[in-house]
Amino acid sequence: MNINVIMVIGAGQMGSGIAQVCAQAGFQVILYDQEEAAVERGMASIQKLLTRAVDKSRILEQDKKETYNRLQPSSMIEDAKQADIVIEAVIENMTVKKDIFKQLDKLTPEHTILATNTSSLPITEIAAVTNRPEKVIGMHFMNPVPVMKLVEVIRAIQTDDRTYEVIANLTKQLNKTSVHVNDFPGFVANRVLMPMINEAIYTVYEGVATPADVDAVMELGMNHPMGPLTLADFIGLDTCLYIMEVLHEGFGDSKYRPCPLLRQYVQAGWYGKKSGRGFFVY
Ligand code: NAD
Repeated sequence: MNINVIMVIGAGQMGSGIAQVCAQAGFQVILYDQEEAAVERGMASIQKLLTRAVDKSRILEQDKKETYNRLQPSSMIEDAKQADIVIEAVIENMTVKKDIFKQLDKLTPEHTILATNTSSLPITEIAAVTNRPEKVIGMHFMNPVPVMKLVEVIRAIQTDDRTYEVIANLTKQLNKTSVHVNDFPGFVANRVLMPMINEAIYTVYEGVATPADVDAVMELGMNHPMGPLTLADFIGLDTCLYIMEVLHEGFGDSKYRPCPLLRQYVQAGWYGKKSGRGFFVY
C-alpha cells in the first residue's frame, strides 16, 4: 500500500509527537484537533523540539524546514478524506473514541487504515463500530514519542494480516521497533508495568519502606533508570489508577486490585508531577 498522507487526530502530548515522527519520516501529515488552540500548541511544540534537534546538531536546519513544511494543521475532521492512514490520539475515553471512529469510517476512502493510540481501551470494541473492522488496529506509542523506540502494534480480533503488515512496516519507516501484541487488557506494556507500580505503592501503604527507599531499591538494585514511584508521578497517578481499574475489570482478577493509597492520592488531587505533588513534591 502506498502511504502518502497520514492524519493524526488529537494534537496533545502524544498526537503532536506522532505527527512529528511521521513528518520526519517524510510523510505528509495533517494534525487535527477539535480545538484550534490545541493544534497551535501542538505545532509550536513540534517547532520547539525540531529547533532543539538542530541546536544539538541531530538534524540540519534544512531537515527542520522540510519536516515542518510537511505538516498541515487542521481543525476540520473532513480533511480525513485525504488520509491513507489515520492515527487517533484523543483523550482516553471510549465514547469519544467510538464517535471519532464512526465519523472517520464515513469520511475516509475505502483503503484507509484507522489506528488508535489508546493505552488501555479494547481495540476490538472500537473496531466494531466501523464498517471496516479488519482495517482497525492499535498503534501504542510511548511517551515522549520522538525519543522512545517502542510501538506496541495491537491486533483487534477483527484486524486482518494485511493491515497488520502495513502498520508494522510503517512503524519501521518511522524508525521505531514494533512488537506484535493481541488485544487483551493493558496489552503488554501496561499489564507488566502497572502491577509493578501498584505493588510499589502497596509497600509504602503497608509501611515497608518510604517512597524514596522503594525507588532506591529498584534503581540501584534492579538497574531501573527511574524508580516506580517517580515513574508513577510522571505518568500521572490518575492515569495509573485508571489503567489498574481497566486490568481489574478486564480480567476480573483480584491480583489487579488498585492500592487504596493510590485511590486516596487521586481523591486528594495529588496526581504527581502535573499537579505538583504525588509520591514526591515538584
Ligand atoms: P492530551 O490530553 O495531551 O491530548 C488529547 C487531545 O485530544 C487534546 O488536545 C484534546 O483537545 C483532543 N481531543 C479531545 N476530544 C477530541 C475530539 N472529540 N476530537 C478531536 N480532538 C479531541 O492526551 P495524551 O496524553 O496525548 O493522550 C492521548 C491518547 O494517547 C490517549 O488515548 C492516551 O491513553 C494515549 N497514550 C498516552 C500516553 C501518555 O503517556 N500520555 C502514552 C501512550 C498512549
